[in-house]
This record gives sequence, structure tokens and C-alpha cells, in this order.
Amino acid sequence: MSMNRQGRPTDTGTGETASAPTFTGHRGLDHEESLIFERGRLDKTGVDLPEPKAVATRLGNVARQGEIGLPGLAEPEAVRHYVRLSRMNYAIDSGLYPLGSCTMKHNPRLNERMARLPGFGDIHPLQPQSTVAGAIALIELLGGYLMELTGMPAIAMSPKAGAHGELCGMLAIKAAHDAAGDSLRRIVLVPESAHGTNPATAAFMGYSVKTIPAKTNGTVAASDVKAALGPDVAAIMLTNPNTCGLFEPEIVEIARAVHDAGAYFYCDGANFNAIVGKVRPGDLGIDAMHINLHKTFSTPHGGGGPGAGPVVLSERLAKYAPLPFIHREDGKARLIETIGEAETLGADPFGRLTAFHGQMGMFVRALAYMLSHGSDGMRQASEDAVLSANYMRAGLRDVMTQPFGDQPCMHEVLFDDQFLKDTGVTTLDFAKAMIDEGYHPMTMYFPLVVHGAMLIEPTESESRESLDIFIDTLRDLTRAAKAGETERFTSAPRFTPRRRLDETKAAREPKLRWMPPPEKQAAE
Ligand SMILES: *Cc1c(COP(=O)(O)O)cnc(C)c1O
Repeated sequence: MSMNRQGRPTDTGTGETASAPTFTGHRGLDHEESLIFERGRLDKTGVDLPEPKAVATRLGNVARQGEIGLPGLAEPEAVRHYVRLSRMNYAIDSGLYPLGSCTMKHNPRLNERMARLPGFGDIHPLQPQSTVAGAIALIELLGGYLMELTGMPAIAMSPKAGAHGELCGMLAIKAAHDAAGDSLRRIVLVPESAHGTNPATAAFMGYSVKTIPAKTNGTVAASDVKAALGPDVAAIMLTNPNTCGLFEPEIVEIARAVHDAGAYFYCDGANFNAIVGKVRPGDLGIDAMHINLHKTFSTPHGGGGPGAGPVVLSERLAKYAPLPFIHREDGKARLIETIGEAETLGADPFGRLTAFHGQMGMFVRALAYMLSHGSDGMRQASEDAVLSANYMRAGLRDVMTQPFGDQPCMHEVLFDDQFLKDTGVTTLDFAKAMIDEGYHPMTMYFPLVVHGAMLIEPTESESRESLDIFIDTLRDLTRAAKAGETERFTSAPRFTPRRRLDETKAAREPKLRWMPPPEKQAAE
């Protein structure tokens, strides 16, 4: 196996060399980037600091004895290192990001401008409330819009992601059961097609998860829910539109049955982007739902920023919402921070979910998105998201296979791997070949109800031209797979800095600490 100057194999893991090795290890403008620890030297620094004055240490025997081992680099070296790393990243700003269930839409720059206004960007969560009245008013306004859009009477703003919101909603449900002396309910119903966070949330809270099968058309039958309901069921966690990209047609009947059985209805609202301005989930009879601001309301996510997962609550759950919450009195909004204060207002919070009040920067971005779109713009965004997904479905349905027949979808379109049968190409291979074509793959192998699932969510922010190129690319890949060009798939990705990695091993045996390579140690 040949090595480049960095000591890394130029052979690319599949036994085949992608291109002639270069002296530097770089491939054109794609730099082979070593780790900063390999590049830096302990005796080097990009800044000159005066020698510190002698001080008496108060660290006692916990003071560090040896070198800290941080790499030293000149300023341009440090800048280049991070710029090169950033260029290895795939981002919504570099290309279409069809990851289903994630709503990777464009993040308008206006939102960034607003979030950086000094009055929002420079405040501190420990500032006295009297100095941040504007920020509190913004949280209240955003919360009000979210309640309006969902048709729900109460909201908890502090959860910091969708999964965190699920925990918030389920803790409110548990608090309501406990307050009613109904603490023997140990079961949470979760459909087979659910996102993994749903059963994880239920299990984390100590509930047993009972799985509801999916019908052959990809939705949940009210009769299956009714058969699973009983005095031991605390709640159902149902996603709508569901993870197959389909609106649950029996959701109202399901909600009624759940309530008749004394249980609560948690709705996973991660797919809200399909129905904003079209459907108010409150009208469907739900009790709690998280909203991923980082999906539906276009705040950056993934590597781009933190999430925010406010939870809307029904009348019956409102009083159990966590601290802090905003209370308006005599025309003034203030944050209620303590149980004692909450109780004087008739509330009964289940506790506190986070330090402080939630992701302020994301609140500003989400509100900027809403205000710049207006109610008609938000409705249009949802309509266009659904249109884009169906455009993609129409452009691919004759060459790829849909698991639940040829029916219209909501904001994402689901294919299975039936069209790859007997080609020797798997869903994973297909996704890897997309990387060589310059695309982040779609969501693969999820939802689990579908064999070799490929879930594509183009979102409303892609132009028709970019959708067309993507469709043409997938059509060419399906042609190649069926024509027996298996190598193009099984050896993909060929043009990336690293080829196929052992992702399972990386997850099971993570190496979190860099150690000098053994040869180097021996030579020193
Ligand atoms: C994204 C997603 C979640 C979890 O949201 P996070 O913000 O990533 O924690 C839950 N359910 C569904 C259906 C999702 O798509």
C-alpha cells in the first residue's frame, strides 16, 4: 500500500487507487489535511505574550506538571487549517440537501442580521429582567405566533431541540396523570414508522413502548390504536404528517379514542413544514407537540447551530408547563422563574427543563423568518414544499419504486430499494454514489417500515432548475445500476477525502483522543 507524505494511504480502502498519488498528498485544490496536532509544534506560537508575572498558585497538587501538549501554529497556518476543514463540510449553502425528515431549507441571511443586532446578540441570560424587556417581548410574540399557527392555548419555549421537546411534552403528560392520581399508566404507544427519538423519550421516562404496526398504505389505523389502548396506556406519540411523508387520515378518530381511554396525545411536529397555515394541529385533538424551529422556521441546524424545540400544550396540560414561562400582567410581560411564584398564578410546573430560557438566537431568527414571510408566505412555503416533493416523485416514479403505491405525498417522498433488486447495488451504495455526484444523500434506511428506505425532502427553497438536475442525476444513477455498472456504486465514494469508513466501528469504538502514530513514537 503506498503512503503519501503525511503517512496516510493513497490506496483508498477498496484496493484500488483513485488517482495517481501526488508528492504532497493533495489532489488538485483538495488538500490532504493533517490533524492540527500533527501539524503544530509545541515550541511555536502565533502570538507573543509577555512573560507572566510570578504568581503563587493556589492549585495545590492538582496543578499540571507536564506540557499541556497544545499545538502551536503561525496565524496563517491556523487560518488555512480551519478554512480547509470547512471546505470539506457539506452544507445547505453549498448544495441541495435532500435529507428527509430534516427540512434542510435555506436559512435567509436576514435572520442572521436580526440575531446579531446588539440588543439581542450581546445580552446575557443573567442580566436583570428589567434590562431585557425587549427580549422577553420577542419570546412572547414568537410563542404567540406558534400558538396561533398550531391552534393551541399554551406553550413552553425552553426546550432546546425536538427530542428535548418530546421530553417536555411527555413530562407534562406524566405530571397530569400523577396529579389525577393515575400513575399506574406505564405504556406509551408508538407507531412502527416513528422517529427513534419517540420510543427513546418514552423509554427514558421509564415507560414501556408498545408498537403500533403500519397499515399497508403507510399510515396508522385507528382500529389498531383502539386495540392497543387500555387503562395502562399513558399516551400515544404520533407524527403527522408521518415519516413516510403521508398525512394521517384517521388522526381525529385516533385522538378521540386516545382521550376516551384517559390517555394523552403527543404529536411529533417535526414535519410541521408540510402544513403550516393549512392545518392547525390543535383542531385535530392533540395535547402536546414540539416544533423544530431549526426545521420548519429555517434556523440553521446540523453543524450550523443549536436547535430549538418549543412545545405547544392543550388546555389540560397548560398548567404543568415547565419554568420559566412568560406571564403578562398590567400590560407588562415578565418571566416566572420559581415554583412558588408559579403556584400563586395557579400553575403547577413539572419543574425546569434547562438553565435559562431557551435558544434566544434561534427565537430571533425564527421570528424574523415569520415576519418576513407573513401568514400568506408561510402558507405558500408549505404548499411549495409539498409541490417540490411531488415534483420529485413525478420525475422519479417510473425508475424508482414507491413502497405504498403511486399516491401523492406531503413534503417528502419515500422510495424503497425494490428498483435495485438483482443489481448488486444497495441503498447504501446508491447513497454513496450520490456523494460522487456532489450531493448529500437522502435519508437512508428510515423509516424502518420500508425495505432499504430512501426519504427525499427537497423543501420549498430549491429552484425548479436545481430540482431538475437532481432528478436527472438520480435517473442516471438508476440507469447505471440497472445497466450493471455496479462498480460505480460499490466503489463509491471515489472523489471524497476519505472513502468508505467503518461507521459501525467508529460508533462502537470511538477514539476520542489523538495519540501520536506508533511509528513516530518509536523513531523519537
Ligand atoms: C428531527 C426529528 C426529531 C428530533 O428532532 P431534533 O431537533 O433533532 O431533536 C423527532 N422526530 C422527527 C420525525 C424528526 O424528523
